[in-house]
Amino acid sequence: MRRTVNVLKLESGNSRRRANINRGRALVAGGAGFLGSHLCERLLLDGYDVVVLDNFHTGKRYNLNAILRNPRFTCIEHDIVDALPSDLQVDEIYNLACPASPPHYQADPIHTFKTSVLGSLNLLELARRNNAKIFQASTSEVYGDPLVHPQPEAYFGNVNPHGPRSCYDEGKRSAETLFFDYSRTYGLDIRVARIFNTYGRRMQPDDGRVVSNFIVQALHGDDLTVYGSGQQTRSFCYADDLIEGFIRLMNAPSAPQHPVNLGNPAEFTILELATQVIEYTNSRSKIVHRPLPVDDPKQRKPDISFAREKLGWEPKISLSQGLAHTTAYFDALLYSSRPVKEA
Ligand code: NAD
Ligand code: UDP
Repeated sequence: MRRTVNVLKLESGNSRRRANINRGRALVAGGAGFLGSHLCERLLLDGYDVVVLDNFHTGKRYNLNAILRNPRFTCIEHDIVDALPSDLQVDEIYNLACPASPPHYQADPIHTFKTSVLGSLNLLELARRNNAKIFQASTSEVYGDPLVHPQPEAYFGNVNPHGPRSCYDEGKRSAETLFFDYSRTYGLDIRVARIFNTYGRRMQPDDGRVVSNFIVQALHGDDLTVYGSGQQTRSFCYADDLIEGFIRLMNAPSAPQHPVNLGNPAEFTILELATQVIEYTNSRSKIVHRPLPVDDPKQRKPDISFAREKLGWEPKISLSQGLAHTTAYFDALLYSSRPVKEA
């Protein structure tokens, strides 16, 4: 069912400038994914040459359409679990390679775990050989089903080590261990971001995470599937805000001695999210309840004091602004024969 969508003009945290300096070569593992493709565009604008390594498990080549022909951009199909190309020379590395949506990371849990552990090891060795700074996309899932709320970086978490989410949660926790051991052992310059639920343009319609599921369901006029009672909470960050946080963390003059929370502290129940999506899409869809997945965290909200004070970063885009923008994106993607025009 086609719906009218109001698009709000967004104040993006990113300044859309063209850099004429060369800042070196940045490698983005997972660069064809939702967040990775936004990061690649930002790095090119900032004056980097960019190399992507991606196995296209959840990423898409068309996410890179805007930059594929840029002479300063290279995309290599490669699984980071396998030995990396030996001739890679890079100044900075961003590791975003890992499926992030529960249905995707649970589809092949052993490969998900290998991606976080063996993939991180391969990239850390590359960083060591090149004396390159390296960034890890960690996750709020390291807090598991948190008993401390909101979650500060010092909280060690409450994670089930053998459940269906463990391949992702424990994989990311192990990757954090490896990053900090490489820093302590070899003096590597590492930056570790713990990312809280982020959404926006270029999520796949079948991604399976809640924001894209609800928007696609509402645009189709289908029931919105709320898992459990819908009283569980999440804090949703818009992608542009998050990418600004990545850049600030990577460019901070000294490396924080711990992982850094990046996310939007505005907390919503899943039922509130469903209601807002129905409102923004003018949809007549109903809300239906489905079983709550095993180990689904009951609450989640970042304490971003460190990022605020030390990186001067905080999200600027509200949930209502971000939803309007993301809805417009999916509306064009699903219903327009014209290519999606992105802000
Ligand atoms: P995504 O699934 O869109 O992107 C992941 C990318 O990594 C895809 O392009 C995929 O093809 C690629 N990839 C997966 N396994 C790979 C492998 N073994 N070798 C090479 N490439 C591989 O997800 P996203 O939302 O863009 O997430 C990016 C990163 O941020 C992930 O590491 C994820 O864990 C982390 N993160 C995201 C969120 C979020 O809310 N979006 C929250 C916490 C953490
Ligand atoms: N969720 C939901 N309906 C959906 C997809 C997800 O109610 O169609 C719920 C899910 O159970 C969780 C929350 O929304 O409580 C966020 O889920 P998502 O997979 O986006 O992220 P994560 O659980 O990894 O935080």
